Amino acid sequence: MSDLTFEIKSHPNPRSAEERAAVMANPGFGKVFTDHMVVARYSAGRGWHDAQIKAREAIPLDPAAAVLHYAQEIFEGLKAYRTADGGAALFRPDANARRFRHSAERLAIPPFPEDAFVQAMHELVKLDRAWIPDTADGSLYLRPFMIATEAFLGVKPASEYLFLTIASAVGSYFKDPNSTVTVWVSEHYTRAAPGGTGAAKCGGNYAASLAAQSEATAQGCEQVVFLDAVERRYIEELGGMNVFFVFEDGTLVTPPLSDSILHGITRDSVLTLAKEAGLTVKEEPYAIDAWRADVREGRLTEAFACGTAAVITPIGTVKGREESFTIGNGKAGPVAQKLRNLLVDIQRGNTNDAHGWFQKV
Ligand code: PMP
Repeated sequence: MSDLTFEIKSHPNPRSAEERAAVMANPGFGKVFTDHMVVARYSAGRGWHDAQIKAREAIPLDPAAAVLHYAQEIFEGLKAYRTADGGAALFRPDANARRFRHSAERLAIPPFPEDAFVQAMHELVKLDRAWIPDTADGSLYLRPFMIATEAFLGVKPASEYLFLTIASAVGSYFKDPNSTVTVWVSEHYTRAAPGGTGAAKCGGNYAASLAAQSEATAQGCEQVVFLDAVERRYIEELGGMNVFFVFEDGTLVTPPLSDSILHGITRDSVLTLAKEAGLTVKEEPYAIDAWRADVREGRLTEAFACGTAAVITPIGTVKGREESFTIGNGKAGPVAQKLRNLLVDIQRGNTNDAHGWFQKV
């Protein structure tokens, strides 16, 4: 147990219910921010200290801060949900705390204590619970992150850091939550290589994915499918989601975890729920040419993306430089729909949670 405790300083002038309602009417994703934030400071020799939850405000940063030059930064993404009784709950925050520690290790950042991470999420949701939308696909997206703040231009792990968490009222990630998405297979750009930072949730991975994302957008696609960096053949994941394939015999396939794939918490939850629902589940490499052939020959019936933001989003069409193909009739399939319902029912407390994933705030 860490001895880090958060001093709580409520916002002296939080926005009124009317102001909140106005900005939350149609929140979209990641634009509407709450009144509070979590802050803690690290300095070499002292460790983590000065932990607070306080009014959200701009942070002072020296122009030489290491994060601005060498991108020594990591982040997380998790959600708080409105429960049927009007309360609030978090989904697997302990899993995010663990992944945050792994990301910290990869980026040579001093780890943030996992119990303090989970405690901070609970305290922030308690303070900002009025910001959780009560719409069917609404939630409060929490964004914990750490940045290297030491003012020094040498390339080395910094000696000073800030841990912060901000919160955003969100609706669905994609414009039409009941539709499928079209994905763009990136043949030129890769996302992560063996030995690289692909399994860490660090800003640099996302900066490096933006050129491919722009290409996808220009092609009318919502997300990028990244292939492995060695053979440019095996599907790894999407720009911000893991991916699953559903076969006509009821088998579910997802690429195996490696150091070039983000170890998604939704991915892990889907694997568990699918096994419990009686599906055969395989974590094995799957090639882009096999995807094309399996769709053409009717062996593959569905594919879907999954992640905290995307929940479970079916993939309708796959576009590439040479050719495009549509999965089934391009509409959401029954397996994705069923798994989505199983997951969402646990997240929102509509069903008994046998896994210890649901944490009441
Ligand atoms: N892959 C990438 C690259 C992501 O950014 C995310 C979102 N965190 C995921 C997969 C899904 O992870 P999770 O289910 O933990 O949100």
